[in-house]
Amino acid sequence: MSANMTHKRQIRDVVLTHAHLDHIAGLPLFIDDLFASLNGPILIHATAEVINVLERDIFNWSVYPKFSELMNRNGRVIEYVPFKPGVEFTVRHLRVRSVDVNHKVPSTGFIVSDALSSFALTGDTAETEGFWELVNQNETLSAILIECAFPDELDDLARISHHLTPKRLKIELEKCTQTECPIYIVNIKPMYRDQIIHQLTELKIPRLEILNVGQVYEW
Ligand SMILES: [Zn+2]
Repeated sequence: MSANMTHKRQIRDVVLTHAHLDHIAGLPLFIDDLFASLNGPILIHATAEVINVLERDIFNWSVYPKFSELMNRNGRVIEYVPFKPGVEFTVRHLRVRSVDVNHKVPSTGFIVSDALSSFALTGDTAETEGFWELVNQNETLSAILIECAFPDELDDLARISHHLTPKRLKIELEKCTQTECPIYIVNIKPMYRDQIIHQLTELKIPRLEILNVGQVYEW
């Protein structure tokens, strides 16, 4: 079995920030790949709005099967677990606090905690406030994951689509009073990856790293 498939079989919960395609594109084939082997449903944690989009626009038989109505020999293959923005919910042994962020569609960031540590994830966002309040008051924070989708040259597009650029990110990070934990950049648009990394490097933001997709991090 490939490492990829082994890893997939260990994933039993999926937590969604919002329903944009670059955040859900892997989900249909992920469920499809595991369909026959599941001995319990994959739990999809999302807001009611995101679940509605998935059921209406993706798992609607036209784009892909409506997995919520299908069973394998062991029972249901997916189950939606709705959460409300701004509340805390649990995923296995983890506590997940959701917080509204500032994106083109309803979207949430998360503070994810176990008994020892926490990390914060913005999801897609432009300038935001509530996320930083939670970050700043967290006493066990080990990492902040923040988006930087577009290069500075595409500032208009970033503004219209509610994303960050390196310059906007630098201003955003001035709201952060956590002085120790590393800041990882995520959700870089692949086409602009080198350009964005170059611009971020020029800004010399302390403790800034680019998150490597596929690498396992322990925080
Ligand atoms: Zn988005």
